[in-house]
Amino acid sequence: MALPRMPTLFLSHGSPLLAIADSAARRFLSTLGSRLPRPEAIVVLSAHHDAERVEVTSSARPATIHDFGGFPRELYELEYRAPGHPELAARVRDLLLDEDIDAALEPRRGLDHGAWVPLLLMYPAADLPVVQVSIDSARDPAWHLALGRALRPLRESGVLVIGSGGATHNLGLYMYAAGRGDDAAPPAWVAEFNDWLADAIDAGRYDDLLHYRTRAPYAAENHPTQEHFLPLFATLGAARDEEHGERIHASYDRGLLSLDDYAFGLAA
Ligand code: ZN
Repeated sequence: MALPRMPTLFLSHGSPLLAIADSAARRFLSTLGSRLPRPEAIVVLSAHHDAERVEVTSSARPATIHDFGGFPRELYELEYRAPGHPELAARVRDLLLDEDIDAALEPRRGLDHGAWVPLLLMYPAADLPVVQVSIDSARDPAWHLALGRALRPLRESGVLVIGSGGATHNLGLYMYAAGRGDDAAPPAWVAEFNDWLADAIDAGRYDDLLHYRTRAPYAAENHPTQEHFLPLFATLGAARDEEHGERIHASYDRGLLSLDDYAFGLAA
């Protein structure tokens, strides 16, 4: 039987606390895995894996990287022991090289929290192989679109391609807003950007998205640096032209970090 074409996702991973502290976003991700066709494997592009040449994790047993500081000990004790997939990693590298995107296998690199926190919630059994792919924050959205497009064929072989970043990500202000609750209303500069993003994806306005820096309201305020937004473009690239994107979850953390999630190619 033919494998189903997998959807492709953009997930906002928020703070590492997503892994352990109850929230609407956590409850949503905890149900998401069981609502999708079961993938053969997962390829995740993480905002926290930033490299000049694309790195593809190729370990058969990728380590769990606790790449954050100042969080409860419980978080550092979490391990996500999903297997790697060296053959899939080699295929990913080859797909990228075929599109003249420089890429190399990285057998020593494990999974960072941009990858394992959402996967821990979606697939807690950790029984699906995972390959992580880097982004390059020095490059623009169009380059990341091409990166995702190169990975598009994987979806036909049962591979779930995920871009993991953040719909909004002003971490500096977030850190100073510790007193704000999860249900705090977002200020206008956050809500307007977040709504613009949702509208642009719903309407398929990819050209506006690629030029979000000048066309979206408060783009620089919501993304002082681009690395958490760039995985979105990899997801857009992995989506086929006729596939409609939909927001599958909407919530905020402290009213500052949008934890919105998007899917393309979900079966009706
Ligand atoms: Zn992050």
